Order: sequence, then C-alpha cells, then structure tokens
Amino acid sequence: MKRILQLIILLLTISVTGQNTYLHCGKVIDTKKGRVLTEKTIVVSGDKIIALEDGYVEPASATDVVIDLKTKTVMPGLIDMHVHIEMEFNPGTRLERYILNESDVAFNSVVYAKATLLSGFTTVRDLGGSGVNISIRNAINAGKIDGPRIFTAGKTISSTGGHGDFTNGAKKGLLDDPGPEDGVVNSTDDAKKAVRQRYKNGADLIKITATGGVLSVAKSGDNPQFTIEEVKAICDAAKDYGMHVAAHAHGDDGMQRAIIGGVKTIEHGTYMSDETMELMKKHDAYLVPTITAGKEVEEKAKVKGFYPDIVVPKALAVGPQIQGTFARAYEKGVKIAFGTDAGVFKHGDSGKEFGYMVEAGMPAMEAIQSATITNAMLLNMEQELGQINEGFFADIIAVNDDPTANISTLENVVFVMKSGNIYKN
Ligand SMILES: [Zn+2]
Repeated sequence: MKRILQLIILLLTISVTGQNTYLHCGKVIDTKKGRVLTEKTIVVSGDKIIALEDGYVEPASATDVVIDLKTKTVMPGLIDMHVHIEMEFNPGTRLERYILNESDVAFNSVVYAKATLLSGFTTVRDLGGSGVNISIRNAINAGKIDGPRIFTAGKTISSTGGHGDFTNGAKKGLLDDPGPEDGVVNSTDDAKKAVRQRYKNGADLIKITATGGVLSVAKSGDNPQFTIEEVKAICDAAKDYGMHVAAHAHGDDGMQRAIIGGVKTIEHGTYMSDETMELMKKHDAYLVPTITAGKEVEEKAKVKGFYPDIVVPKALAVGPQIQGTFARAYEKGVKIAFGTDAGVFKHGDSGKEFGYMVEAGMPAMEAIQSATITNAMLLNMEQELGQINEGFFADIIAVNDDPTANISTLENVVFVMKSGNIYKN
C-alpha cells in the first residue's frame, strides 16, 4: 500500500513539473548505509532527486529524458573541504599579489571553478583568498558561470607575520601594516572585529592560520601563531553568526590551542601528537588530511626555483609527514573530513586524495563517505547534499568502475550533474 502511494505521489509530481530526467544506473553508492546498490533508476525533477527506484524504470512522459549509465557506478557529487578557488600555485605566485588585479584573479577563478566541477566535485569549502571567492560563489549560485557550490571563508584570519599575513616577505612600505579588516589580528578585540567583518563581506565560515605554514614567505612552518584567548574570541564570535571555524595547523602546540579554542576542523594536522588526537576526539573536531598537497609540495620543492628559498626546507619537512599522520589519526579513531588543498596543486586533481587515503589504511567506502555525508553534515547540508535520495539536490556523478574495488576511478569522473543540470556526459 505504501509502495502504491509512493508511486502515485511520484506520478503526480512528474505530471506537474514537466520534463524529468531518468538516470538508469548500473550501480549506485548508498553513502548513508555504506553499500553499493545495483540496477537503479534515479528520477530528477528540477534541481532535486524525486525518486530512487528499483530496476530501470521507463519515463512516464514522452518529454522526459533517459540517461544510460548502466555500465557506470553512480554516486552523489563529491565535496572537498579545503580548496583555494582563486589560485593555483606556480613559480610566479609570490609576485601575483603585486601584478594581478582583482579582475585577473576573477577570470582565473572561473577557470579553476569549472575544472573543479568537471572533476566531480560539486561542492567545495574555500579556505581563503582575496575575497573574490565570495563573488565567484555568488556568480555560480546565480547560474552565470559553471562551478561547484562554494562555501567560502573569504579572507583568512592570521596574526602579524603569521601564515596568512599576505605582506610577509614584502619590501617595507610597499604594503601597509594590515589589520583585522584584512584578516590580521593581534588581540581578542581584533579577532572579533575580523570575524564580524567577514560576516559583513559575505563569508560562510571562518578560516584561521593557527600555526606557521609551508608556502608563506616566513621561517617557521609550525610555530603557534594565536593565543588560546584569541582563538576563543574568534570561535565565539563566529558562533554568533552561525559560522564554523577551520584551522590550518602543522605544529602540535598551535593545534591544541585551536582545538581547545573551539575550531571544528584541523587542516593538515602534520605534527599531531597522540595526545592531540585524543583532544580532537574529545572536542568532536575533524581532521582534513590534504595528503595530495603534502605530496605536491614535497615533489615541487625538488624543482629548483619553483618555490622561494625560504619555503623549500619547510616543504621538504612537512610534505612527507602528512600521509603518515593521517594514517595514525584514522587508526586512533579521529574523525576525518575529506579535503585536499586544491590550488596548492592543480584544480581538478582532487580525486587523487582518495587513493592516498586508501593507501594509508582507510577503506574505500569510508573515504567516499568522508567526501559526501561527513562533509555535508559539517556544512549543515546533510538533508540536501551527500546522498542519492529523494529530496536531495540532484548533484550526481558517475565513474567507469566501482570505486570500492578500484579507487583510482575517482580520478576520472565521466558524468557530472549539479542541481539537475548536466555539465559532463
Ligand atoms: Zn590551504
């Protein structure tokens, strides 16, 4: 009886909404239950999935469209929790701040956003740029350009000389001493102002650089760069505006301050001690591994002139550690949120991260779940993203093989639908 009722509702929905799309799927990954289903039909109407049916269901109306994915594995669009949609690292990156106008950055971002979408990542969390990332998000949402759904931090928050202080390494007098508006803070008052400024600018969340980093033109890649009080002030202010806080962190000290201060995700986590892993679990914080970025900086540090001299030793020290830290953290039961740091490497290559996660000991299905249901939950979108199910956004991708048997197939996504629109087939 319930089944008949569902069918009637489905037919009624179909008749009032006009053209629908029927995806005939050989396999479908059920991310919620962690299993692979066979021979299913996904019915899409507008930007939503309206049904997931057994077998290959023929359309109800002559105007409906059927897409044959019978030889493919179909899954929800992937979510990358750490990208920089505005930039792609190259030997000239250090100079770009002085030679690129905002419009140049915007045109670059359009290219990177499209590459990201076509690689199967239909949603990303942008962890910092100049603020153009907010305009790009809006343009994508308005349907003016092709790209993933973006949840953005706008500009990163740092302390003076910290990883996100963009005047590091610059000639004196060339740039002002930046303040909270530009994301550089040195007190709890500054911290609150910086968060509120980001809210005003249209950011969705907050990113801080809790420790030194690899690619900034500064000496330390791991020193703590905020006091606990400053982190707390940032997290408390963010909470008032419904925003969560992501913390870039390599060193253990700064990581602990960030977790105790209330951040939701730790990015990279390179030198995370066992004690800090326990702290992560206690505070329900998530590790965003970014193994692909670790591999990339290690490799590029060996290319002479690719990075400034001051960056090379940091890249060689930090890069090789990241995958091992992820393996230990996973083993210890730290929660993992899929994220890559795309922009440090080529946009569109984020799918490599899955292979590195599996290589480090995480089962393929769990890696896929981290990139779908876990990330959807962290973005407060668990009722709309991360699953192929009735009522969810029609963000749907397909690959040639079953990724639970061949994880590298996720590096070659062959079908991409976002909000019911097809971008790749
Ligand atoms: Zn990053």
